[in-house]
Amino acid sequence: MSAGRIDALREGLIDMIAEHGDDLQFGGTHQKSARVALAKALAVLATAEGGVTILGVHACTAEHEGCPGSIRPATDMDAAQAR
Ligand SMILES: [Zn+2]
Repeated sequence: MSAGRIDALREGLIDMIAEHGDDLQFGGTHQKSARVALAKALAVLATAEGGVTILGVHACTAEHEGCPGSIRPATDMDAAQAR
């Protein structure tokens, strides 16, 4: 997805969550669409450098230092921190 498209999507998600945050939290006619917007916002945040971690879930779209989902071998520094 292009940066321009992500920016446009982000604007729409911000509007939905800001306008219907009460429905998101307490229920209401826009609860479903607000929940979908929140899930999409998590996906957008995953494209940021370092990704995003919320409620114990980490999401990212590119390899980065300290990623809990990394499959790269631990470096000496990582091993020292793990002790
Ligand atoms: Zn990550």
